[in-house]
Parts: sequence; C-alpha cells; structure tokens
Amino acid sequence: MKKINIALAGNPNSGKTTVFNALTGGNQYVGNWAGVTVEKKSGKLRSDKNVTVTDLPGIYALSPYSPEEVVAGSFLLGEMADEKPDVIINVIDSSNIERNLYLTTQLADTGIPVIALLNMIDISQKRGDKIDPKILSAELGLPVFEASALRGKGLTDAVNAAKNAAAAKASPGISGHRIVNFSPEIEDAITRISKIIKNHVTSDKPVRFYALSLFEKDSLTADKLGLNETERAKIESIVKETEILLNDDSESIISSQRYDRVSAILTSCYEKGGKKSATDVIDNVVTNRFLALPIFAVIMFLVYYISVTTIGTIATNWVNDTLFTEIIPPAVTNGLESAGASAWLVSLIVDGIIGGVGAILGFLPQMAVLFLLLSLLEDCGYMSRIAFILDRLFRKFGLSGKSFIPFLVSTGCGVPGIMASKPIEDEKQRRITIMTTTFIPCSAKLPIIALIAGAVFGNSAWIAFSAYLAGILSIIVSGLILKSTKALKTKDMPFIMELPAYHVPRAANILNHVWIQLRAFIIKAGTIIFLASAAVWFLSSFGVENGRFGMVDADFSFLADFGKIFAPIFIPLGFGQWQFAVSSLTGLVAKENVVSTLAVLFGTSESGLGTHVNVLFSAAHVYAPAAAYSFLLFNLLCAPCFAAIAAVNREMGSAKWTMITLLYQTGFAYIVSLAVFQIWSAAAAIF
Ligand code: GDP
Ligand code: MG
Repeated sequence: MKKINIALAGNPNSGKTTVFNALTGGNQYVGNWAGVTVEKKSGKLRSDKNVTVTDLPGIYALSPYSPEEVVAGSFLLGEMADEKPDVIINVIDSSNIERNLYLTTQLADTGIPVIALLNMIDISQKRGDKIDPKILSAELGLPVFEASALRGKGLTDAVNAAKNAAAAKASPGISGHRIVNFSPEIEDAITRISKIIKNHVTSDKPVRFYALSLFEKDSLTADKLGLNETERAKIESIVKETEILLNDDSESIISSQRYDRVSAILTSCYEKGGKKSATDVIDNVVTNRFLALPIFAVIMFLVYYISVTTIGTIATNWVNDTLFTEIIPPAVTNGLESAGASAWLVSLIVDGIIGGVGAILGFLPQMAVLFLLLSLLEDCGYMSRIAFILDRLFRKFGLSGKSFIPFLVSTGCGVPGIMASKPIEDEKQRRITIMTTTFIPCSAKLPIIALIAGAVFGNSAWIAFSAYLAGILSIIVSGLILKSTKALKTKDMPFIMELPAYHVPRAANILNHVWIQLRAFIIKAGTIIFLASAAVWFLSSFGVENGRFGMVDADFSFLADFGKIFAPIFIPLGFGQWQFAVSSLTGLVAKENVVSTLAVLFGTSESGLGTHVNVLFSAAHVYAPAAAYSFLLFNLLCAPCFAAIAAVNREMGSAKWTMITLLYQTGFAYIVSLAVFQIWSAAAAIF
C-alpha cells in the first residue's frame, strides 16, 4: 500500500486540532485561542496506518507574514525535507464561511488536491444558516463535506474522498483548475511572471502560485526560487506597470478580487440565518463596554478565592505541613538510620532533597485547582473574550490583549506563563510579555511575601496586596520603557482573534490540559530542584574551618564565604548581610529557596523564622521595615528561577535576548528596591 500524507489546513479555531484528534485518536491540546498550534503535529490515521495526518498551524492566508503562515506554507508547498502532503483537507468554520473560503481560494493554487470540510455545521445549523454543499462544490470545483468534528460527524466521508484524490493525483493548481480567475490585466501579468520563473520551478510545483506570490511582492519567494537580479527587476516592472494600470497596490488588488469571487460563490449557495445564537446573547453582556471589566474582576476574584484562599490552600497546607513535615521526613530519617546511613547522608536526603523538592511539590494542589479553573474558563470560550477586552488597554504598554493569558498563568508559575506567550503574533509584543510576565508574584514567591509580612509587618494583608500591585506597576512601567527602545518599538497591528462560540467544556480536554501543566511542574521538581537542593545543602553544610575541610556551621560554609563576596552590593538596598545575599541567589534555583535557605541558615523551623529574620534586618539597618520591604521587592522582581530562565530562553529562541531579559529584570529590581529603600528610610528619619 502506498503511504498517503493528509494535511489539515485552515483558519485558527476552525477545528483542525479537533479533527486531528478525532482522526488519529491523539490527545493534542485543543486551544481556544488563535495560534495554540504553532508547530505542526503528525499522527497516523486510526483506521488506516498508511495514512499520516498533519495538523498545521491556523492561518488566514498563505502569505509569509507570521510564523504560522511560514510553517504551514512551506509544508504545503513541499519545501520541507521529503514530506510533501498528497492532499489537503481544508477545515472550514462554516459559521464564518466567507472569511474561511478566502484561504480555500489560495489552497487551490498550491497544486495539491483540496477537500473542503465544512466544519462546525452544528453551529451554523443552529443559527439557521443555509448552505447548499452541491452548488458550493460545483463553484469551487472541490469535493465539499459537512461535518461537526466536535461530535465526530462527517469525517469518514471526507477522509475517504481525500484518499481517493491522493490516489488519483488530481492536482487542481497544476492541472489548470482554479477557483479565482483574476481580471485580464492581472492574468496577463501572472502569465508573464510565470514565463520568467518557469526554469526555476520544477514540474511538480505550482508555477501559478509562485507567480502570484511574486506579484504580491513576496520577496521570500524570490529568494526561495533563486531568481537573479535581472529576473527580479523584470518582475518588479511588470508589477509596477499593472499597479499603475489598475491604480491600486498589487496585494490589495489580489485580495479584493479573491474576496469578490468568494462573495459571488456564496450568493449562489449560501444564506445567512437570522437567529441570534446563545453566544451572541452572552457576548452582548460580557464584552459590554461598561460591564466587561467588572464582570471580569468578579470572575478572577472567584478563581483566586477558590484556588488560593480556599480549596487549593487547604490541600497545599496539608502537603506542606503534614505530608512533607510530619509524615515523610521522620519516616525517611528512621528508615535511613535503621539502615545504618551516616548522619550526613540522612541530612542530605531529608534536609536537602526532600526539603527542596517537597517545597515545590507542596504547591501542586494549589496549582491543580488554579489550572483547572483557568482551563474551564478557556475551554468554554471566555478567555478569548478577556484578551479581546484587554487588548486596547494593553496595547498602550507595548503588550497585546493576549499578554493577559501569560500574566494570569504566571500568578501560578512563571514557566507555563512564559510558554503561554506563544500565541502573541507580534514578536515585539511577545518579547515584552516574556520580559515582564515574571514580575507577577508566582506561587513560589508567596512564602517570601508571607515571611516578610509576618516578620516585620505584623502579618498585614497590605503587604501581599502591595506585592501584586508592585508586579502590575512593574509591568506597566517596563512596558512603557521597553516599548520606547528601538529594538522593541511596536507598531500598531490589528487585533485578529477568533471569538469561538461558547460551549460546555469537555472534561477530557480540560483534564488533559491540567495534566500537561502539572506534569511539567513535577518534572521540574524531579530534575532541576532535586539537583539544586542537593547542591545548596552541600554548600551550606561544608566548608573550611581552621584550615580543615569538613561539615561546618553555616556561618563558615562555602555558601557563607561566597555570599560575603557579593553581599556588599546590597548595602545601598538596606540588606547587606550575607544571608540575604545567599538566599536571593538560591532563589534563582527556585523562589521557595529564599525562605528555605534562611531557615537552613538559622537552623530553625519555619515558625520561628520570622523572629530571626527580624533581628537580622534590624542588624542590617536601623529602619528594618524599609530594608525588609526592599528585600521583598528585589526578590519579587529580579531574574526568575532557572526553570523560568530556561523557558525564557526557549521562547525567545536567542541567548542574546535571554541575557537582555535577565539583565533588564535584575537591573530594574535593583533600581526599584534602591529607590524604595532610600526614600522610605529618608522619610523615616525625618518623621
Ligand atoms: P484549531 O485552532 O483549528 O486547531 O481549532 P480547535 O480544534 O482547537 O477548535 C477550536 C474550538 O472549536 C474548540 O473549542 C473546539 O472544541 C471547537 N470545535 C471544533 N470543532 C467543532 C464543531 O464541529 N462544532 C462545534 N460546536 N465546536 C467545534
Ligand atoms: Mg489547533
């Protein structure tokens, strides 16, 4: 049997991933905002292992303007190493048919057989839309199938048609079929360009498609085909000539004629139903100019109340205070001691590794609840509305409405927060988002906030409130600063985002999503935190005392020696003691370490820690509250933990930008803490 490659192409949110999962039995993440699938994913057809299905990123057009378009375009044109699709299933959101068919007209030009799948037919039927698939099929010259991927309906016929088309090698773009015939002037220009590039295009590649791209001044195509200077100049003059003739820009001419053709097709076979869907009704309320933000605030408050204040915290407290304090450590200690392990090994495993890894795992229940609630909001469709509502506001700070999602996720953990920046199309907005998202206190920073509030400020709730406020203000100020730099100056881009129809969330999708995030978290605890905890334990337990290497008091440990070297940097910030320097440093491994390192250094339980820390701040500076608050701010705002740094590096895709991010964050934290401390202590001296 010959192997067949099917590519799924379509607009963002048209249901490609849902189709993919239904066909392959895969459990890829079905996201409810545009751009969730930036990379392409492949899988074998469940019913026929000879057929490979590839889920491409969502695109509105086949132009190379976004990473999604580049990935999808070069795959469809067979420009990626030996994996050319034999047939395209064009997943069309039938409730948005006009905009979706625009891409269809381009897909037909690629020379690959196209099957049109009218997905979400359940929604358009509910609205009362009338589509005649027979006429549509005749007009497009493509097989058309109605489907509801969500309910698994209508897919089998489409796949069979795709297999037949692949076997028949019917290639519309090459065999001359086309959906759009442009006006004579343009067809003439395309013919002339085709002649120029013919020698650069192999026979299995769509000359017309490339000629059209060149007509639309796509310079990437010229590079890909390897055109020489004279050829480029000739093409340029043809384009100019036609533009003068038609008195418009070549790109606009092409796209408006494509749209005209789509409208003409639709008048013959489509009638929009007048019924208001439930989605329209809900949207009138939740995206209402006056109600949107208050509704959003209430929903977010509830999410935090449930996950951070009630359910999540009860579970997290149990894991922290009972499981990792009263149950596991004594049991392991007993076990190791009865097995005859030496004291240092017991200390390494119990204090170092279980302490460190436990501190991270302790937050798992809180995160699970938070992720669950956020997934629910996303899956039902509300998240896309929030991004839509916030876009105008965020744009002022060099951010996108979609930056909201990373910020939100970062309240739990910066790592998925940074990863959640993927869907932001504008690279500069995405960079600014990555650079600022960890200013939001993550759950690992909560113990620091709690420690400082308890030790110096009598547990005032204002400290926690001010920490979040400081995070938000830092994002705003940084957005304004970064946006004004040359490298990150953002230009205004239209906000394109699908607002999918609301629907009841699906349990499988949500559990899958929560699990993917939790798993990443557990892996982090088992690898990075595991090793780092062992290292911290070693460095704070060993040292050279009286010229001899051995286990020493923390004050003489390697960690102390090291801390004393750079502690003076923090004197202007009010906390020049080496213990603070070292704990800020171990905070880079995991922010929980800021607190646990202090606990190790004082050799005290966490409950007695506040008093010790208060004494140390008082020794550091006469205005202990100013010093303590400065210490808090510095640790909240400086470079994040290693796991988050690795995530920054992955998402930035550049070591240079990772360095810039870390330097910016740490520099910003230093300046803010310096200013706050100096002003606060000066004011305290006066009043
Ligand atoms: P992609 O961006 O094209 O990969 O789209 P997804 O597969 O992520 O789907 C976007 C949203 O549309 C998800 O919330 C899906 O559950 C939903 N969806 C997909 N297919 C259908 C369908 O046939 N009917 C309905 N009502 N919803 C669908
Ligand atoms: Mg997808």
